[in-house]
Amino acid sequence: MAGEPQADCLFCKIVAGDVPATVVRETDNVVAFRDINPQAPTHVLVIPKVHYPDAASLALAEPALAAELLREAGEVAAQEKTVEPGYRIVFNTGPGAGQTVFHAHAHLLGGRGLEWPPG
Ligand code: C5P
Repeated sequence: MAGEPQADCLFCKIVAGDVPATVVRETDNVVAFRDINPQAPTHVLVIPKVHYPDAASLALAEPALAAELLREAGEVAAQEKTVEPGYRIVFNTGPGAGQTVFHAHAHLLGGRGLEWPPG
């Protein structure tokens, strides 16, 4: 069923507490934790606790939750003091865009200059 935990999903295991993560923020529906391979001084992954393979499918099935995910990413940016000068929220979608974990997640990146376009 849509949103159900997947046995082979790493981020479902983090949500369940079966795989450790450095959690920086948690609500009833969302958890945010430090990326294990940070690409910036602030690199936090913000994920829904329920399982959807990517951000677009999350937004289609549960638009309020997708909005909450974005709001929480903004809250983490404030917590991390990276609102000024700015931060980036990235949703890699599909292997060609670098998605390696198929559980919807926002990368929150900040704490250094971020070039445009990204690689
Ligand atoms: O967008 P993508 O699917 O590649 O992002 C997955 C992210 O999950 C990677 O940045 C990777 O470093 C991170 N990761 C993590 N903890 C793990 C495994 C992967 O933070 N245990």
